[in-house]
Amino acid sequence: MDLMPDTKEALQTSDENQRLFFLAVNEMAPPVLILDRHRVILYANHAFFELFQYTPEEIVGHYPADVLTEKDTDLAERHTARHRAWENEGFHHEVLLYGKNGREVWVSANVKPVHDAHGVVTNIIVVLVDITEIKRIQDLQRVVLEAVASGLPLAEVADLICHQVELIAPEVISSIVSVDDEGKMHHLAGPRLPEAYTAALEGQPIGETAGSCGTAAYLGRPVSVIDIETDPLWTNYKSLVLPMGLHACWSSPIQRRDGHVVGTFAFYYREKRAPSALHKRLVSACVHLCMLAIENEDARQKIAELSHFDSLTGLPNRTSFYEMAAELMRETYGENIIFFAVDLNRFNDVNNTLGYSVGDRVLVEAAYRLQKLTQPSGIISRTEGDSFILALPGSSVAKAAMIADSIIESLKAPIQLKETSLSISARIGISITDAANQDPRIHVEQAITATFRDDPSDQDAYRFYRAEMNQLAQDRLILGAALSSAIEKGTLHLYYQPQVRIATGELTGVEALMRWNDERFGEVPPVRFIPLAEEAGLIEEFGRWALQQSCSQIAQWRKRAIPIPAVSVNLSPLHFRNQSLLPYVTDLLKQYNLPPRYLTIEITENDMMAKDPQSLDHIKALHALGLRMSVDDFGTGFSSLARLTRFPIDELKLDRSFISDLENDENARALVTAVIRIGQSLKMTIVSEGVETKEQARFLLGLGCDVAQGFFYAKPMPAHELEQWALSNSRVVLQQEDDRDPQNDLGDAVAHFDSR
Ligand code: C2E
Ligand code: MG
Ligand code: MG
Repeated sequence: MDLMPDTKEALQTSDENQRLFFLAVNEMAPPVLILDRHRVILYANHAFFELFQYTPEEIVGHYPADVLTEKDTDLAERHTARHRAWENEGFHHEVLLYGKNGREVWVSANVKPVHDAHGVVTNIIVVLVDITEIKRIQDLQRVVLEAVASGLPLAEVADLICHQVELIAPEVISSIVSVDDEGKMHHLAGPRLPEAYTAALEGQPIGETAGSCGTAAYLGRPVSVIDIETDPLWTNYKSLVLPMGLHACWSSPIQRRDGHVVGTFAFYYREKRAPSALHKRLVSACVHLCMLAIENEDARQKIAELSHFDSLTGLPNRTSFYEMAAELMRETYGENIIFFAVDLNRFNDVNNTLGYSVGDRVLVEAAYRLQKLTQPSGIISRTEGDSFILALPGSSVAKAAMIADSIIESLKAPIQLKETSLSISARIGISITDAANQDPRIHVEQAITATFRDDPSDQDAYRFYRAEMNQLAQDRLILGAALSSAIEKGTLHLYYQPQVRIATGELTGVEALMRWNDERFGEVPPVRFIPLAEEAGLIEEFGRWALQQSCSQIAQWRKRAIPIPAVSVNLSPLHFRNQSLLPYVTDLLKQYNLPPRYLTIEITENDMMAKDPQSLDHIKALHALGLRMSVDDFGTGFSSLARLTRFPIDELKLDRSFISDLENDENARALVTAVIRIGQSLKMTIVSEGVETKEQARFLLGLGCDVAQGFFYAKPMPAHELEQWALSNSRVVLQQEDDRDPQNDLGDAVAHFDSR
């Protein structure tokens, strides 16, 4: 028991009653402060020190405001509090205080002045109640209610609820599922649940032993499963979640006012455990919010169904599409119908980089072109966002392919916008009716399934629905599960690819590229596993790992005087939404004693341009720290060079598609030339990616491009091979400098690499 000096004195000189009084105050559950008549802290009890983490020396003898308030404490509130403390009556207020190390603590404070016989205030007693959690839950409710009121779509509201909850309780992985009238579950939100898992849950029936959610929805009461591995409720589902490291799940039903279950709200845990008191409070606030959001969405959908048309494009909506499809089938008497699902590629990038009004114009133009193709006998609908479905009479695969080609062609023609023009590509899925199956809904679903692509580079194509496609979703689930233990198992590696100054051949840096060699799946290429890691919520962990490995590697090279001047690390956009990146990088640099210029961060063009002010702040902060920022795959996005000047960018990496087109495509040449000129005038380093031949290198040198990376120089390789490469390369560069002939300088370095 820590007692203040004054208190000790008080104890020694006082009688037994006083001693007992101090004992009681010190052991009381609520934090208590006693101030003297100058409003200086005289005494604080045990609970106070526990809550604020200060030591007695740091508190006693100070004004409360000097130690407990910071920038976000309401100043007016603070002023009133000081003033009112001298009134005769006590008062009560809620205020944000700060504990040691800046931890925010919301308290409800009861302030009570004590007077002497003449009515003069001698002391002030402050009793506090920690209401941080209540405040945060209130904030959550306010944010979500505002979102519902502003008409945000249900899935986004649900996503917001999950994010907010996980901010308050980072140890939970939250999930919201809706339950339809047939008792089937549909994933609504779960930003940290692997997508493969939520996909597998889609359409599963609720029931007596249907995991935590299915059972909670069926019984209409919360279901807590502390150990998924052994609980009979999870027998059929545990193989889906255990490999992802989820061991417990507590799910509560979301009920409409009439008691009807419309969904569930669940917390998954990585340990075997039951929910805490905070979790219960969070859920009781959230199920109510979910109910409001779902009711609101139901009302909106009813209105939309009544209107039958999509207000943006004027096309029929999904409901009226099904009615029209049924009619089309009747009219064509047994002839088959071909269903096309059309999904625009990278439409989100258009929205993010050019704004929603441009996005809307693109949709209207796409709708117009597609509608023309369906005339006179076909039908069309916009189902959601950038997805359309079309149905036309026809039976043959050849006819379907021909129509799909004309859809792709018609979308490809540039759309004229104010500043630029833009050409869109699409993924198309096709399903053709047959005698066995005439239900338009099934064919629409199948066509949509056939728009999913496993390989992200495979974008501009059509595909017929095949039954194996459902298998694909399951394969991803298994691959995702294997990926989640890649770091732990040591199957993830970094390869390094040299970047070379074209004019001199000297090494300017290396790019760290991830390699995954799984014991079961073998070497899986990054274009396959990086998107999967993003979906499975692993990418931030991977990025941190890559940063740590790169820093450790370069520190080692520095120590051994191996001439490798910098490492570039690729980061996914998700990192920049997160505040923890900056302290993480700062710590790494400190830990490995590295000057920041040794580290370059690569972000792809569209991620850099995304209109997310927070991400931009984080990018700026990293730049301010002294890291170099590089725009990867430049030229594949929609940014204008003029906008680039607003970002803290040191380097542009020209996408390799332009380099491979250099010799034959005049447009590529013009673009590369323009980028190099403008980049130079903005003092950015220009790096050409994918340089494979000496002709390309010479050409780029002629255009004034600084640096090249590509198979012509070297492939990505493990650290120890790169060391050999760097050592032998630096010898050659030195030698070249010695016998440099000024007349014939240009291209010497290129010739050297050609001869190796
Ligand atoms: P990127 O960052 O644009 O990386 C360059 C890619 O081009 C690498 O493919 C590299 O091996 C390949 N390349 C280099 N020179 C040539 C050439 O002369 N010809 C051809 N045809 N290709 C060349 P890789 O290693 O398969 O990586 C593919 C993409 O995966 C990367 O593109 C990057 O977007 C992503 N990636 C790789 N490692 C990481 C990582 O650690 N984190 C993140 N977030 N993404 C990564
Ligand atoms: Mg890169
Ligand atoms: Mg690239």
